[in-house]
Amino acid sequence: MKVSKKRAAALLAAVCLAGMLSACGGQAEEPSSRQIFAMDTAMALTVYGTESSAAVQAAEEELMRLEALLSRTSEDSPVTALNRAGGRQTVVGEELTALLDAAGTYSRKTGGAFDPTIAPVVLAWGFTTGHNRVPDPEEVASLLETVGMEHVHLDGGTAWMDPETQMDLGGIGKGYASDRMAEIFRRYEIPRATAALGGNVLAWGTRPDGTPWRVGVQDPRSPEDSSALACLLHLENAFAVTSGGYQRHFESEGQSYHHIIDPATGYPAQSGLTSVTVVADCRRDDAAGLPGNGTMCDALSTALFVMGEEKALDFWRTSGLEVELVLVTEDGRVVVTKGLAELFEEIEESGYRYEIVS
Ligand code: AMP
Ligand code: MG
Repeated sequence: MKVSKKRAAALLAAVCLAGMLSACGGQAEEPSSRQIFAMDTAMALTVYGTESSAAVQAAEEELMRLEALLSRTSEDSPVTALNRAGGRQTVVGEELTALLDAAGTYSRKTGGAFDPTIAPVVLAWGFTTGHNRVPDPEEVASLLETVGMEHVHLDGGTAWMDPETQMDLGGIGKGYASDRMAEIFRRYEIPRATAALGGNVLAWGTRPDGTPWRVGVQDPRSPEDSSALACLLHLENAFAVTSGGYQRHFESEGQSYHHIIDPATGYPAQSGLTSVTVVADCRRDDAAGLPGNGTMCDALSTALFVMGEEKALDFWRTSGLEVELVLVTEDGRVVVTKGLAELFEEIEESGYRYEIVS
């Protein structure tokens, strides 16, 4: 499918937040919409149906609750308590234990490319504080000794870490929040909705006219222009989560450094990719429990960005996880896995070359 960039922008009628994936739809019914700033991110909810107002309210309260639960910068979050415990066992509750357990699972599955204990390294690069700097190689090497999920231990609602190890759920938290949004939409029997939580989109149901939601994959070369897309995805009942170096970066001595760190080196991943989008089904059997596929997509988008094209596609072929991918490469290609072949639209004028892989 091909569509001009201008037409694509016109199609994206509703929520288009700068620098992030966006989900947009038609206007037959009046939705309840809300923009929220939480988890250091501009978020947008658009919810349809008779219970839409109540669901939007519940969703906002839930996002605030999650911010308080997962923040590593607030004084009184359980994550902060864990980070300050100096090795002591800490009560973090069942919910956070389940998320830490999921983080450990995805860390193992990705051979450590996703690793939330990368926290001290992210801090050394200044991405937690905004005071960006390029750390010395010796400093990076010594911090890497504290990194690894083998330093994290869980037991029945409690957690403890080896004394120097630190936890940063920034690579998975918004995906978990999108799982919670899906849970709220299910509970309020919402027929259709979109939730754009930074680069994490939930496309719930279909648009009011019964066609899929249109989710734009931001062009990493033009992050400041939200209408500049690398491709469009036509999705229903799906999570679509994007990680990209363009989302947070700084310059020093003519070099650009971004926020996704390769745990093998302690340096920003230089894998030849400029963004990775991971798509998966958002419906689940109620017995499956949370965290769900939103969390999975978030962990994997970070990990596959670190891995690069070849390893990411190997992972897609062999992991057994039901996901589809859009990889945008530094050399101007958009690589789409075959499950999305009928669901993606090329953007003429973007200059990208499109490849479908199986
Ligand atoms: P995302 O936008 O989901 O790709 O997450 C990026 C954020 O996760 C960064 O801002 C860091 O806080 C953290 N992070 C950076 N590198 C990694 C990594 N390799 N594994 C897990 N979290 C990471
Ligand atoms: Mg992520």
